[in-house]
Amino acid sequence: PAPAATGGLAGRLLGRGDARPDDPRRALDDDMLEELEDMLVQADLGVETALRVTANIAEGRIGRRVSSTELKELLAAEIARIMTPVARPLPIYPKKPQVVLVVGVNGSGKTTTIGKLASQFKAAGKNVVIAAGDTFRAAAVEQLQVWGRRAGVPVMVAAQGSDPASLAFDAMTRAEAEGADLLMIDTAGRLQNRQDLMEELAKIVRVIRKKDPDAPHNTLLVLDATTGQNALSQVETFRKLADVSGLVMTKLDGTARGGVLVALADRFGLPIHAIGVGEQIDDLDAFDAEEFARALVG
Ligand code: GDP
Repeated sequence: PAPAATGGLAGRLLGRGDARPDDPRRALDDDMLEELEDMLVQADLGVETALRVTANIAEGRIGRRVSSTELKELLAAEIARIMTPVARPLPIYPKKPQVVLVVGVNGSGKTTTIGKLASQFKAAGKNVVIAAGDTFRAAAVEQLQVWGRRAGVPVMVAAQGSDPASLAFDAMTRAEAEGADLLMIDTAGRLQNRQDLMEELAKIVRVIRKKDPDAPHNTLLVLDATTGQNALSQVETFRKLADVSGLVMTKLDGTARGGVLVALADRFGLPIHAIGVGEQIDDLDAFDAEEFARALVG
């Protein structure tokens, strides 16, 4: 038998956060649904998704008395249903090199994620090249070189302030010459000047398409879980700047339980390729919908 809920979402709703061995039942009425909705909003699901989840749980069950264990199972199932279609690892193409453009605001964890991914692909026997496309931030370039050394993967850099597109082109040339399986291109995350950034990203894409009309094969948007609902507007913004094909959510090892991922999946349906769970090279996990739903519900 499933243990009675304690501190999780469902437990708080019925047991007020205390361990309740008697697992009390409560009628699924308007009051309770309103409380549930508030809690889902607080858990970062956003109003729209919280409303939808609550409505789905209410459907056909109004007035029924549910225990915290039952409610927990209902909630977890509902969240897993939303998350299952988006839990998809980065697709691997037979094309060489597969070009992965990595975008996101500064500080979201782009550099770290590129290092972790490079290490995983290297371990899987892939030949990886990284291009340090944020040519304006010297610190970002240095950091990427550190990660490249850790992963045992070459990092192509250019003079500070030089054109990222020309670096991307050179990186394509090298990746092709070396028969690399994967080329990961870091990009700038200056959202202060969106027009510039849009042009910069568009130029990178234009230039690599001269070499391969299908490139980039993936455009990964890296998001920081601790920014909560902000992640939603970052997706909207970056979708205007680039053809985002999938997400990586970082910093899920901290206090953020990543409720915003449910809102993201519900609103955009973009695949979640991986999650960052720490600052070390192995701290990148595949996204598991069921496990995530259970952890979120508590
Ligand atoms: P960038 O500016 O987007 O390239 O971000 P960085 O990769 O430099 O990461 C910014 C900070 O977040 C660094 O201090 C990283 O160590 C940290 N970081 C990145 N991913 C994670 C993660 O999954 N968990 C934790 N705890 N920290 C992370």
